[in-house]
Amino acid sequence: MKIVCVGRNYVAHARELGNEVPTDPVIFIKPSTALLKEGAAFSIPAFAHEIHYECELVLRISARASRIAAGQGINYYDAITAGIDFTARDLQQKLKDKGLPWEKAKAFDGAAVVGEWMKADQFVNKRDINFCLYKNKSIVQQASTSQMIFDFDTLLSHISEYFTLEPGDLVFTGTPAGVGPVEPGDVLEGFIEDDSAFELSIQ
Ligand code: ZN
Repeated sequence: MKIVCVGRNYVAHARELGNEVPTDPVIFIKPSTALLKEGAAFSIPAFAHEIHYECELVLRISARASRIAAGQGINYYDAITAGIDFTARDLQQKLKDKGLPWEKAKAFDGAAVVGEWMKADQFVNKRDINFCLYKNKSIVQQASTSQMIFDFDTLLSHISEYFTLEPGDLVFTGTPAGVGPVEPGDVLEGFIEDDSAFELSIQ
């Protein structure tokens, strides 16, 4: 199983980190070992000085797929949830500044969190799914998929041009503006529409 992630898929988030708005999706991969065990707390790794949450919608791939034709992406995932793409922001910045791959800042153990899966077909309009993140009961991120630069279909076609997708693979579809740091004792709670997808303690 692999975890494919999309960077800079919301204009306001690309800008808040001083990045250009991309003309092609920005893609990176986390290994299966990055997936946080269900129900576990997230432990801030010793190497990191600044861990940021990035709340994102996540798709669960349901069929093997390579070079998905435009508009056919819907046939290759069966569930959606909200999750967190944890990022060691200080380390990522250092690696970016040197032009180096940023995996160490993104793909470490426990850096991918997924919530409870919801059936994809319960979302009639995939281009207007609302989701949000609360940190310690205050809202910190809120967005709709209508604000995505590349929608689910476009992402799946693009990703599968390079990487064959397999059942059980996960696709993190990018974070909106409002990313920020976590500290031990924080609690993050993600929602899709009015449904809680996850509640996560930071330690
Ligand atoms: Zn992300």
